Amino acid sequence: MPDKNEVERRKHIKKELREKARLEFEQSLPISREKFKKLFDFLDEKLSKTGCDDTLKLSHKFLHENEIENIESVIEWLNENGGYCDCEVLNVEENFDADAIL
Ligand SMILES: [Zn+2]
Repeated sequence: MPDKNEVERRKHIKKELREKARLEFEQSLPISREKFKKLFDFLDEKLSKTGCDDTLKLSHKFLHENEIENIESVIEWLNENGGYCDCEVLNVEENFDADAIL
């Protein structure tokens, strides 16, 4: 049975690790959170009408329409986070929730 200080210490470490993970996630973002939010809303709307064609066509369209300059980095980032097609990109949105929210 760890003593009280030890419990506190572990809690503290856990918190720091969470903070660190959040910060790393935040720093890995190639575009702002707001832009991602807009991308997810855009995909949500479009996919409900047309469905996913197993490409990142709609994501590309959004990035072009919003004059995002580092499209390659965004696509690469999406791939790294499991977004290989438009409907999968919507799953990536989960990474922005829960502990990630300030
Ligand atoms: Zn899909």
